[in-house]
Amino acid sequence: MTLENLALIREIAASVDDPELPHVTIGDLGMVRSVEHEDGRIRVTLTPTYIGCPATEEILADVRSALAAADIDADVEMVMSPAWTTDWITEAGRAKLRAAGIAPPAPAGDQPTVMLDLPVACPRCSSRRTRRISDFGATACKAPYVCDACREPFESFKAL
Ligand SMILES: [Zn+2]
Repeated sequence: MTLENLALIREIAASVDDPELPHVTIGDLGMVRSVEHEDGRIRVTLTPTYIGCPATEEILADVRSALAAADIDADVEMVMSPAWTTDWITEAGRAKLRAAGIAPPAPAGDQPTVMLDLPVACPRCSSRRTRRISDFGATACKAPYVCDACREPFESFKAL
């Protein structure tokens, strides 16, 4: 295996779609941590997004089958440390989230240390006149909002 092949393996792993976010790949979310040789094996490590996101097993299975389809025999594992942060979402990933009507999270560095509920910009009209409808989203990762300017409901990623 050459370095070039490792880059190809990373590319295949990164192109797997996130099961919960249509058109957004796990590469867009910054989940692919490393692709390396270890004791004659290829080891791919991924970092799950939000703890408690039920999609973790599905993502592992999807990456394994994408690699198997390319005839690549690799160990695919989740690593929990360092923990994933929304800062790892790529610019392309943020653009795709907006296009899918999901407000991308503000960079975690911009978050106040005291958790203030800053208004989230509406992904459709960019208005900040939005409010959270409830604390419980469809998944552990997203919170439901409604925009008072265009009256559209949308989901926002919780910044981590
Ligand atoms: Zn709006």
